[in-house]
Amino acid sequence: MRQSDPSLGEVRKRLLSDFPMLEEIRRRRPFYVEKLARTVRDCAEYNRRYVLPAALELDRRMEKEHDYFAWDLVEAGLQYRFLSLIIPSTVDGVGGLGVLFSLAMEELCSACPGVANIFGAHALGVAPLLVAGAMAHWESVLREVVEEEKSGRPVLMAAAVTEPSAGTDVEEPHFLKSARLSMHAKRVPGGYVLNGRKCFISNGSVATYTAVCCATDRERPLESWTSFLVHRDMEGFSVPRVEEKMGQRACPAAELSFEDCFVPDEYVLGFEGDGMQPGTLLLLASSRAPVGAIATGIARGAYEWFLKWAEKSKGGRRPIDEQRIKMVLADMRTRIQLARWAYLSAALTIDNSVGSVLLGPAIRSMRLIPKGIRTSDVTRRFFLSTAGKTFSDAIVAVSISSEEASHALAFASLAKAVGGDTAMYVSSLALELMGVDGGEERLWVEKAFRDAKLTQIYEGTNQLNRLTLFMADIGGSLKVELKNPFNPRAAGKGVV
Ligand SMILES: Cc1cc2nc3c(=O)[nH]c(=O)nc-3n(C[C@H](O)[C@H](O)[C@H](O)COP(=O)(O)OP(=O)(O)OC[C@H]3O[C@@H](n4cnc5c(N)ncnc54)[C@H](O)[C@@H]3O)c2cc1C
Repeated sequence: MRQSDPSLGEVRKRLLSDFPMLEEIRRRRPFYVEKLARTVRDCAEYNRRYVLPAALELDRRMEKEHDYFAWDLVEAGLQYRFLSLIIPSTVDGVGGLGVLFSLAMEELCSACPGVANIFGAHALGVAPLLVAGAMAHWESVLREVVEEEKSGRPVLMAAAVTEPSAGTDVEEPHFLKSARLSMHAKRVPGGYVLNGRKCFISNGSVATYTAVCCATDRERPLESWTSFLVHRDMEGFSVPRVEEKMGQRACPAAELSFEDCFVPDEYVLGFEGDGMQPGTLLLLASSRAPVGAIATGIARGAYEWFLKWAEKSKGGRRPIDEQRIKMVLADMRTRIQLARWAYLSAALTIDNSVGSVLLGPAIRSMRLIPKGIRTSDVTRRFFLSTAGKTFSDAIVAVSISSEEASHALAFASLAKAVGGDTAMYVSSLALELMGVDGGEERLWVEKAFRDAKLTQIYEGTNQLNRLTLFMADIGGSLKVELKNPFNPRAAGKGVV
């Protein structure tokens, strides 16, 4: 366990050595790289002060009490603004996106991926409000998250896509066409009525808001896939159960039930039918790099504990003095570094496109608009109108072309699959080599091994991510369709 908080200088040096491309970026944007270093330093401090002393005991507790939730650890994270990391600075968020959030995830996951994933799943719930024509909710929902965070009260979010009979099928447009869906939204005056179930939803039992995707026409799921924002107090919404988990236990995965749950029109994110194309695909292009980072962090944690174990003398001999252990350590280090470069490259792709607009000067300058106007009913109604939603969509569409978004999706899928496989490889190899030996180090590696498996499953299984890489990059049969009102033909066909 680390004895003291790392200094900003140490963290900066480590970042620049792990990711040499940052040096080039630092020359042009020194404050940005300082912000990255400060965020990673905060994560390291949070780990050392709060997570490392508690994580093993929390993991043991949640094996028996799987519906327990460590609100104290979430509250401790509020001072570091972990709930605002990807919220735009327009509403006083930290204003990070791919790179900043991914670096934070790697650092947090090197200690406890379960705790880290509470913040990860929260960001997954925030993301649809950034990419899905949903600016109407920035001054209300995102503002609430930020203001409550400042007051020490966590407002958590979640994203619900998976259904009991459709997991892989709802993460890919070709498969969605023939998915066996159980959930459905029916158009009624003033909104929609949701019926059915979602399952395995991270943070689902503790979130105040959940972004929910489902079909409004089960015969045409791809064309009618739509995103809704559901508040936990909405009538007809409930959480029937929380799963017993093997790993990442601190972050609850819940089943969500919707029984005649009325969602008013203003809680539709974007337009009806936008849920998969471009909604979910843009979301995955942005969120799979951070999942690669989560996995890289798990691999790094296992590697660091294994290294500590190898350096300790056992009966007068240290494992690290053996040639085979040196080679294993070099192999682990290589794979972790490759996984890190993969997720950082994918994250940079998003930051340089969608991020450059969402977090750039145009959106930031919206802060200059007097608060009374930004938060007025007129502005809100504009963003809820067809014109306002089109404006939100246009912001994304002018920042990235369909081709670029498809490329971003392919690279994000690559990073996610590489990361997940690396986490499994490193943690299982470390565990095998330690055998029955090892004190505290072995407990952490065993936990990392259980935590790692999920990174091959969620955010699309690694099989699906490979298929996405093939379709979006090699075969060319998958394209992210963007709605560009200034150039309607640029959108392409989506699934071609
Ligand atoms: C702990 C946990 C947390 C999660 N959190 C969330 C969350 O917050 N929000 C959310 O929406 N979902 C969440 N998920 C769901 C997760 O994204 C799905 O589990 C995942 O997409 C796989 O779906 P499935 O479990 O139904 O498996 P299936 O889709 O049934 O797949 C089973 C196996 O078949 C393979 N397979 C399926 N179709 C194909 C194909 N066409 N070609 C090749 N192989 C195929 C899969 O790769 C997999 O190996 C979570 C899951 C878990 C376990």
